[in-house]
Amino acid sequence: MFKRIVSAVIAVALTAGLFCGCSDNGGESGKLQIVTAIFPAYDFARHIFGDKADVTLLLKPGMESHSYDPSAKDIVKVSGCDLFIYNGGESDEWVENILGGADELNCVKMMDAVEAIEEENVSNGVRSRDEHEYDEHIWTSPKNAVKIIKSITQTASELFPDISEEITKNSESYTEKISELDNKFEELLSGEERYFVFGDRFPLLYFFREFNLNYYAAFPGCNSETEPSAQIIAFLTQKLSEDDTVKTVFCIELSNHKLAQTLADEHGLPIAEFHSCHNISADDFSAGESYLSLMERNYEMLKTALENS
Ligand SMILES: [Zn+2]
Repeated sequence: MFKRIVSAVIAVALTAGLFCGCSDNGGESGKLQIVTAIFPAYDFARHIFGDKADVTLLLKPGMESHSYDPSAKDIVKVSGCDLFIYNGGESDEWVENILGGADELNCVKMMDAVEAIEEENVSNGVRSRDEHEYDEHIWTSPKNAVKIIKSITQTASELFPDISEEITKNSESYTEKISELDNKFEELLSGEERYFVFGDRFPLLYFFREFNLNYYAAFPGCNSETEPSAQIIAFLTQKLSEDDTVKTVFCIELSNHKLAQTLADEHGLPIAEFHSCHNISADDFSAGESYLSLMERNYEMLKTALENS
């Protein structure tokens, strides 16, 4: 059904000449129109383009990123923009339907900029992999974020040579700050080997791989399950009482935190939110929070958790 709607909208857009689009500086503001699918893409684009573009985020702040379906209006926005930036993972599979009908659409697929890792499940202590399921949360590794920003900048410089110098400068200034934070994480996390317990989903595989960290989580990736089995609860409860476990129960933004709270109450431990940056709450969005500021929040949170362990 959904595919048919997409095709119909693309057909209309084509007839209306929207795809010839990428019309220089199409928007009413006279600026480049950049459309992004998810928050990290949005944040990277607004830092790269500065005042040279209007950047639109399709996924509304506070919305569950894995159940998003584009509206007809969203599809028209994508088809008429100067550059479209999307992730290319599980939660924006809809993009492929649009791209099939739009040869001339300029786009960057973020997953092309880094090496993807297969999703893994460690909820019962046994590491298992979902075949051919790549974990899509690539930006959670600061090193990957830098690679993605560079890749967007390179494509944009080729497409819009007039602003190449300025966007390259913007891009360097943002990646420098992310790299500085990356070094701080390295320093903080390079100590003794410890386990982090997530009473929640686990969209942080890339972050944990980058810093060589161990974890146990109730659900892999951004699994939509929220009711853990008794076996999983028992396993995580056991892990929390072991010596090499960080004495904080971790959870993820925009989840109900129920399991994390239950585990924390049982052990008399604090809970702490690790922000995956997949999406952002409406409050954080209006407060102007960025990928960098959310990752800084993660840094402070981890520092406190490690100090208390
Ligand atoms: Zn996710």
